[in-house]
Amino acid sequence: MPAELKTAAELDVEGKRVLVRCDLNVPLEDDGAGARRITDDGRIRASVPLLQDLTARGAKVIVLAHLGRPEDGPDPALSLAPIGERLQELLGMPVRIAQDVVGESAREAVQATEPDRVVLLENVRFDPRETSKDEAERGAFADELAAFADLYVDDAFGAVHRKHASVYDVAERLPHAAGPLVAAEVEVLRRLTEDPARPYVVVLGGSKVSDKLKVIEALLPKVDSLLVGGGMCFTFLAAQGHDVGSSLLEADQLDTCRAFLDTGKIVLPVDVVAAEKFAADVPHDVVSTGSIPSDRMGLDIGPKSVAVFRDALVGAKTVFWNGPMGVFEMEPYAEGTRGVAEAVASLDDALTVVGGGDSAAAVRALDIGEDRFTHISTGGGASLEYLEGKALPGLTVLES
Ligand code: ADP
Ligand code: MG
Repeated sequence: MPAELKTAAELDVEGKRVLVRCDLNVPLEDDGAGARRITDDGRIRASVPLLQDLTARGAKVIVLAHLGRPEDGPDPALSLAPIGERLQELLGMPVRIAQDVVGESAREAVQATEPDRVVLLENVRFDPRETSKDEAERGAFADELAAFADLYVDDAFGAVHRKHASVYDVAERLPHAAGPLVAAEVEVLRRLTEDPARPYVVVLGGSKVSDKLKVIEALLPKVDSLLVGGGMCFTFLAAQGHDVGSSLLEADQLDTCRAFLDTGKIVLPVDVVAAEKFAADVPHDVVSTGSIPSDRMGLDIGPKSVAVFRDALVGAKTVFWNGPMGVFEMEPYAEGTRGVAEAVASLDDALTVVGGGDSAAAVRALDIGEDRFTHISTGGGASLEYLEGKALPGLTVLES
């Protein structure tokens, strides 16, 4: 059982300089005129409460964040400047934007920032030491970052599985605490792994079995049933001896799937939407899983499967759902995901957690209503690694 995390609320921040690692990695698109436009500012909005709280309590807040994966050094297309502007609007107070991470501009910007205001450093990955595998290199960078501040708060759950300087090494160098986003994620993930209320049902989908093998392995002993849809159900169906046509199939995972099926906990679709090819505008029909035509591919679970999954969810007290049931991005293959999302959202008196970037996007795109779930996890990779039982460096360091 992991130690309790100290939270930002417990820190005495008055008159202190607080380095805050945020997750501001939002999607951007070109506006056609050479500028970059934020297409979904959810992560910026989510970061506002902590920044407001810290400044209101008299702290100088130095925000650290990454954007994308800069290849080598500063890349103007991945500058945090447009994000700083949005942050300023959302906070309703000026945000100073530094032009580098630990250089002259950053030092001056931190210096010039008033004691109860916010300064945003440039994309932390502009410095290649941030992601270096070399401890000494990362450490030297972390020393420079730590020199800006008295305290460190991590509110970037999506990055806690990375052993990066701004997530791990800097926390070793300063008194530290978890921000509210990290604390909330950890609280929910604990409830999924430590003594979950039963029945406990997990719904998995998405494209590949191989992506989710470890999480299946870790969760199977804990759950009462595991419902499998999405592209990964076809490897399970093939393992049972079904012909899956041209559906996604990972032949090297058949034995693993057989072993999973032997637990008796796995529930598979009974019908699928089979299409001529991976496209919206091609002939497609609902067929039973026992009679998928050899020239067709399954792109969604069918209505009978939705009913089977809904029945399996009745009375569940804990539900974790990761991975769409079909290619929900194309309208003809969205109904399976919609049906299962509705079934989970309609449960009374249950802990319902959605994990995964595409699953969260499906909840929004299909208008299911985000507030009908207990929690929608923001950090896809980090949540899965937590559920796999891996030690996450960014959390381990906060617990110490
Ligand atoms: P998440 O991001 O929620 O963890 P994944 O990344 O594992 O989910 O998988 C999402 C993708 O899986 C979606 O883009 C969806 O189109 C795809 N997918 C779902 N069902 C199928 C299928 N039957 N065949 C091919 N791709 C599928
Ligand atoms: Mg995904």
